[in-house]
Amino acid sequence: MKYCSTRGQVQDLSFTEAVMMGLADDGGLLLPQTIPQLSATELQNLSKLPYPELAFQIISKYATDIPAADLKELITRSYKSFENPQITPIVKQGDLYILELFHGPTLAFKDIALQFLGNLFEYFLSKSGKRMNIIGATSGDTGSAAIYGVRGKENINIFILHPKDRVSPIQELQMTTVTDDNVFNLAVEGTFDDAQMIIKEIFGDLKFKEEHALGAVNSINWARVLAQVVYYFYAWFQVNKETGADKVDMSVPTGNFGDIFAGYIAKQMGVPINNLILATNSNNILSRCINAGDYSIADVHHSLSPSMDIQIASNFERYLYYLLDCDGEKVVKAMDQFKQHGKLEFTTEQMEKLKNDFSSSSIDDKETLQTISSFFKETGYILDPHTAAGVGVGKKISSSPYPLLCLSTAHPAKFGNAVQKAIGESPELPGAFIGLESRQKKVVTIAADKDLIKEYVTVNSI
Ligand SMILES: *Cc1c(COP(=O)(O)O)cnc(C)c1O
Repeated sequence: MKYCSTRGQVQDLSFTEAVMMGLADDGGLLLPQTIPQLSATELQNLSKLPYPELAFQIISKYATDIPAADLKELITRSYKSFENPQITPIVKQGDLYILELFHGPTLAFKDIALQFLGNLFEYFLSKSGKRMNIIGATSGDTGSAAIYGVRGKENINIFILHPKDRVSPIQELQMTTVTDDNVFNLAVEGTFDDAQMIIKEIFGDLKFKEEHALGAVNSINWARVLAQVVYYFYAWFQVNKETGADKVDMSVPTGNFGDIFAGYIAKQMGVPINNLILATNSNNILSRCINAGDYSIADVHHSLSPSMDIQIASNFERYLYYLLDCDGEKVVKAMDQFKQHGKLEFTTEQMEKLKNDFSSSSIDDKETLQTISSFFKETGYILDPHTAAGVGVGKKISSSPYPLLCLSTAHPAKFGNAVQKAIGESPELPGAFIGLESRQKKVVTIAADKDLIKEYVTVNSI
């Protein structure tokens, strides 16, 4: 399998090259040149496999330059860190199916991709004799999942900036109680935007970037999307076994268009998703786009589902590439237009395709709380506020005769305050997280100053 950029100037990369490049050198995102389609017999055979073996079968269609035995070992190891033997179990609550994606080490769905990506990086670096210093800023989930993905790995150091005292206590503890030698937590005296800006500036210093072999783990890496494709298959097989239905509706809480794009790929490969439902919070650029062709940027609202508080959904460019006939030049034009005018426009034909591929709606904080509360009353099951967006939107717009499956992206205890507001009690933390506050911590407080942070990276890089 070869990879190309959505902007057309990077072609014929191997899987290894695509993963190590992350963002394409022409500013675009990398995609496989074809999407393999599975026959009914193949689907039938895959439906019997446990999660890690299913993951191997799907991923090996794309990671064709890794020897099978190595890939299998790497995938098996990636999912050993999950506390549920099914990795991503589904549960039935009322008439809904819920796909629980939060059984990894940091209790959010990003673990599914980042456990795999961390092992991939280590594998590629050991083959090439290279090293990598990962730097990134986080407002919560991504940072902790990235740290858990690479802690203790060879030839990789990781530096994660978080805004001091502005991430939730549990998120902060998840990061700062990782004391491995290769992990560096920086509590920046400023906002998330300050930290993010500093990271952008550091990556913009190409000499520094090269000198320190800087790498990123953001959601534009193809390997992350790929790892997520797997659970759409797994979920479909379970729902099909339980209900005998021949299609399913799936509702996906979305921020950066990463998770939903994995669903789109799974559908192209043969998972019979009838309605692929894109659920947003009040940061609703994507649902405005699908419903009214209005892809125009607005201010970021801080909501109860902070991991979806995103206006520019980076992964949308991947879908845009398909919408624009796989023509890199058209993508470049569209992205330029977006940069200049803050919006994109679509033809009637493109709108038809968009509406055919997705349905969408958004819910605000009030509806999020209502959804958590009414679902709890009906079923006794506690939704986290991100999952509540998927459930709330799914119920609002799914009218098909097929079963509805909602993706649950975080354990409710991770967002205890919102849950407390909705149902008057805070969910219990799983055992491994009790007593985190009394563990040893590794974190330094640092001013929001690019030069100080560069100096810190220089001293501590591998
Ligand atoms: C990151 C995240 C999302 C959004 O996922 P995207 O891939 O950005 O669409 C939803 N819920 C939780 C809990 C997350 O951490």
